[in-house]
Amino acid sequence: MYDSIVIGAGIAGITAARQLAEKGNQKVLVIEKREHIGGNCYDRLDDYGILIHEYGPHIFHTNMEDVFSYLSEFTEWYLYENGHQVVADVNGKLIPVPFNLNTLHMVYEKELADTLEKKLVQAYGSGSRVGIMELRQNKDPQIQAIAQYVYENVFLKYTMKQWGQTPEEIDPQVTGRVPVLISYDNRYFQDKYQGVPLHGFTGMFERMLDHENITLLTGTDAGKLLEFGDSQIRYEGKVFEGCVIYTGELDRLFGLKYGRLPYRSLRFELEHLAQEDFQNGHSVVNYTVSEDFTRITEFQYLTGQKDTSGTTIVREYPFAYSGAEGEIPYYAIMNPENEKLYQKYKKLAERYPNLHLLGRLAEYRYYNMDAMTKKALELAEKLL
Ligand code: FAD
Ligand code: UDP
Repeated sequence: MYDSIVIGAGIAGITAARQLAEKGNQKVLVIEKREHIGGNCYDRLDDYGILIHEYGPHIFHTNMEDVFSYLSEFTEWYLYENGHQVVADVNGKLIPVPFNLNTLHMVYEKELADTLEKKLVQAYGSGSRVGIMELRQNKDPQIQAIAQYVYENVFLKYTMKQWGQTPEEIDPQVTGRVPVLISYDNRYFQDKYQGVPLHGFTGMFERMLDHENITLLTGTDAGKLLEFGDSQIRYEGKVFEGCVIYTGELDRLFGLKYGRLPYRSLRFELEHLAQEDFQNGHSVVNYTVSEDFTRITEFQYLTGQKDTSGTTIVREYPFAYSGAEGEIPYYAIMNPENEKLYQKYKKLAERYPNLHLLGRLAEYRYYNMDAMTKKALELAEKLL
């Protein structure tokens, strides 16, 4: 039988499964309810032969050498020479995001921009990163004016669309992901490695799961095979004493006993266009002051695919997750109230000594792929 069971074949579950199978020589069963592997990082060719990211644009970026070298065992990379770059459409004008000194010089005339640049450098230091909420607290009226511009033109409407709340109402760590940069750096991320697997995320995951000790079951909800009793987990009716790694929503594991953990979801609207280019070479354009969608991604520029005919784009429309059939919980809404509810579920999970919670859903956190990989590697190491 199996030594371990992993629920969910996203990047977290796959990494953990591979490590247990390879380093621990364990027989691992991976159960995935979707018909495919990869979780939200899944990519595939569309009807026009264009590689698309089914659940929104995924750019791998990291400063962690160990994570990069680990995943590199399973894939080559298409690394972005100039990093991943994003622009915001502000009333038809495209400006670099994160807001940086290039942006400053685009939105203010030269003399004023020079003065403002000096002030920013003096206040925060050249090369620094300042969260918009922090910048807004600066007492200098001129810096306040910049902060107000960035707040209104980059953050307010986009955040309202994405979260249904203002930047003040959400966790500052969320807007802090896109700080104001006191440098001439147009890159969206400042990480050393930025790109996508050369043959797609799904290709990389297939190689990770391709191990004699791993059995994969897709299209199967773990609830069909596993039962969570008072303090024991049963697999097909028998007590299972091996490790169970759970990467799904924690509230669902316990039948929503204390109520639903809130999430934001997205509707992706794909469109194929019979034209060579749609965004003039930009892979991602954020709509920060207009439209109901948050951003448009043009896949050929994200993946570097050259043999395309026509182009495929996707628009992202956020909405509140209701738990209805087919909806996917993409983003945990981090605030003290939700954290309290999460902790109640976590207490229930602690009744099972062999149950381990891992992943963006099970941990109710806003993890990027690299952080997720790191956590999975650490968990596997701890278990072995
Ligand atoms: P998931 O990918 O959600 O995988 C969990 C899996 O568990 C799913 O496949 C689910 O079907 C399965 N599952 C759940 N419950 C059960 C059950 N009961 N039985 C069987 N299977 C079950 N990160 C980056 O680093 N860069 C990016 O550019 C980036 N862009 C993103 C864009 C969007 C729109 C979103 C939503 C996320 C983005 N991320 C990005 C984050 C990235 O998607 C996550 O870090 C990563 O997917 C987390 O992996 P995971 O394995 O924890 O979760
Ligand atoms: N954000 C914004 N305008 C932008 C980009 C980001 O207001 O142009 C805010 C928004 O609240 C968003 C958060 O910053 O949810 C984090 O952005 P990121 O691009 O990291 O979000 P993700 O790609 O994870 O959806």
